[in-house]
Amino acid sequence: MLPVAARGRTGARTWAHMIPAAPLSLQPPRWQQALREAVRDPRELLAMLGLQQAAMAVSPEAAAQFPLKVPRGFVARMRPGDPHDPLLRQVLPLDDEMRPMPGFTSDAVGDAAARAGHGVLHKYAGRALLVSTGSCAIHCRYCFRRHFPYAEETAAAGGWQDAVAAVRADESITEVILSGGDPLSLATAKLSELTTQLAALPHLRRLRIHTRLPVVLPARVDDGLVGWLQGLPWPSAVVLHANHANEFDAGVDEALGRLRAAGASLLNQAVLLRGVNDSTGALAALCERGFMAGVLPYYLHQLDRVAGAAHFEVTDARARRLHGELVERLPGYLVPRLVREVAGDASKRPLSQG
Ligand SMILES: *Cc1c(COP(=O)(O)O)cnc(C)c1O
Ligand code: SF4
Repeated sequence: MLPVAARGRTGARTWAHMIPAAPLSLQPPRWQQALREAVRDPRELLAMLGLQQAAMAVSPEAAAQFPLKVPRGFVARMRPGDPHDPLLRQVLPLDDEMRPMPGFTSDAVGDAAARAGHGVLHKYAGRALLVSTGSCAIHCRYCFRRHFPYAEETAAAGGWQDAVAAVRADESITEVILSGGDPLSLATAKLSELTTQLAALPHLRRLRIHTRLPVVLPARVDDGLVGWLQGLPWPSAVVLHANHANEFDAGVDEALGRLRAAGASLLNQAVLLRGVNDSTGALAALCERGFMAGVLPYYLHQLDRVAGAAHFEVTDARARRLHGELVERLPGYLVPRLVREVAGDASKRPLSQG
């Protein structure tokens, strides 16, 4: 794949003629174009997969609450004709979402109580998490974001000044975590604006990025992003989010290779999801496939109890059993930690024994 900047807008011939080319800086990067072209209509998605005739309980109400959004390259990794495809299930708005379920609420992880500044969450020792943006490249039906699709409280607003001030004021913070939404849905220049300011703070030792973009839209890992990562003054970790081995393909492998070459350590967090990855086989395949792309498993999350996501839940007893089977089946370094986020806890809560 050739980066856009290397190609010129309409090919080399343009330059040979007298037609003035647009300045390079005015051309949107190719990944932003792909983002704009994401599929947003459930009927179109089903037609692409040859599923128009399948009796799928697609819900216009659920789609109105949290719209469908999925990049075309991710759709290409779904199995045509399979209504139970594990990638499709993660994005398709279903009737199940609209059935209220006791215990499933809209602020399931207690974030409202942990706000330390504009878009800054300081829940755990030494780590400040920046809610960088409300935007994502894909809309995952199980995500708490379904209740804050256009979150206003984002750290990037106003040149990051409140977030930087909050980190500057607390010398116990040694790691900044860019989260969201998806921080890589911001332009690289915006990310750079933040890290340039953070570079002046001597107490920072690491930068971490929580992102699903390199998996769902690998074109995001372009020369600009790689150059930014390479130039950071701290070691960096990129924590990816893939839930199923089928989310990886050659394009994802290439993007992840570039992130590693830029010096980032790659980890993956997955959510345990009924009907997506709730079998030992699917989980083992995910961990092994990730490793082929240079990614180590980090967390396997029990679902946040978010209203609309109850149909994805796996009981704790079953989650522990699946995790126990993974421990027996895989090398220790390919087994993620099974955890649940509990409001008020000082860390993610481990669910597995030992
Ligand atoms: C999950 C989370 C972190 C990171 O926790 P780790 O266990 O270090 O991955 C930090 N801050 C908040 C608010 C979080 O939710
Ligand atoms: S924050 Fe992550 S899990 Fe939630 S919708 Fe965005 S990409 Fe999906």
